[in-house]
Amino acid sequence: MSRASVLLLALLIINTLLGSLCLAVAHGERDAPGLRRWGWGLLLYSAGILITLPEALPFDLRKVVGNALIAFAPILSTAGLLARTGVRLDRRWIGAAYALSVLPILYNHLGGHYLALVDFLAPAPIANVLFVYAAVVLLRRPPPAADGAARFLAAILLFSVLVWSLRMAAIWTSVGDSNDRDRADLVIALFAIAQIIIAVAATLGLLWVEVRGVEDALRRQALADALTGIPNRRATLERFLAETRRAERERRSFALVVFDVDHFKRINDAHGHLQGDAALCHVAQVLDRGRGSNDAVGRVGGEEFVVLLDGVSGADAVPAADRLRAAVAATPPAAQELPALTVSGGVAVYPQDGRDWDQLFATADRRLYAAKHGGRNRVEGPPLAA
Ligand code: GH3
Ligand code: MG
Ligand code: MG
Repeated sequence: MSRASVLLLALLIINTLLGSLCLAVAHGERDAPGLRRWGWGLLLYSAGILITLPEALPFDLRKVVGNALIAFAPILSTAGLLARTGVRLDRRWIGAAYALSVLPILYNHLGGHYLALVDFLAPAPIANVLFVYAAVVLLRRPPPAADGAARFLAAILLFSVLVWSLRMAAIWTSVGDSNDRDRADLVIALFAIAQIIIAVAATLGLLWVEVRGVEDALRRQALADALTGIPNRRATLERFLAETRRAERERRSFALVVFDVDHFKRINDAHGHLQGDAALCHVAQVLDRGRGSNDAVGRVGGEEFVVLLDGVSGADAVPAADRLRAAVAATPPAAQELPALTVSGGVAVYPQDGRDWDQLFATADRRLYAAKHGGRNRVEGPPLAA
């Protein structure tokens, strides 16, 4: 067995193992289309190589089918690499480019004038163009939370383009010397080693992208309220801590407002809990749309919301909170059967009413109850003298 055959066999085994691993990982509970396509790309490449080998099969058949599969593999691989970038390959362009790689192979075998060179070179241009394109997309539009992984993948892809180009050049320069078997053997062997490195590194890079994607999704889930989609209590606390640190550093104030929907039990009783849920989504949306760009809104309890008003002082906190209250009162829910909703609010201001969550929340909550007792659909804040 020649050097080239041994290394091609190694490439075949590694691609098959990596491809199967990608398909197994993608087959789990999560949908991972990128890994699945990448995995099929590796398996197709292996299948292509495998088909070109057995000498028992007719020469033209195994070369045409094998190289046609090899030429298709980078299309699948690129679709896998791009899956999380939001960029899709245009089917018509891909179809045309694929035809341009396969037609020379077909002509080479059916046209009566066979040149081994054509089989080697035909799949390379499409792979190079696709990998350069994928590298550019990964650098310019990296998948969410995976900038580092995207840069790593782009570097591997550009290395791969370099390898394919060197391979083309090496084969090209040996045109007049087609009998130099030893040289051809060395070229194929070196190319197989480079391909092994690329397959392993790029698969790890793609798994890296997936891990970052899972982390990001879990983090989002952990911080979003399942019903309304706005930040939950945990996220609001995190934001509160960030706001406190900033206020301390920059010696400025901010306000914590607690809103509670008025007579919400009646809505549940009269319209059912599903409509009650819809009413909560409605209030969350109105508060979220009405807040300033640096303010934060979160759902901290059943029908209780906290708004952090950035940079406001004692004097302007209550008017700012009252604008949000008025927005809720003025916006009827989309569901016809639901009555107009109102909220009451209590305002506490950092640092005069306290410096931590417990102090500020307790003060705002006390003022919220004053607002309820004062007739509801109103906001209570610090005494004016403060
Ligand atoms: P008040 O004006 O004094 O606030 O009266 P209220 O009826 O709103 O009283 P309270 O704030 O104590 O009522 C809270 C109700 O909110 C009780 C509970 O059934 C309902 N609730 C809490 N969480 C949810 C939820 O996720 N979905 C629905 N539909 N109802 C909820
Ligand atoms: Mg309540
Ligand atoms: Mg209530």
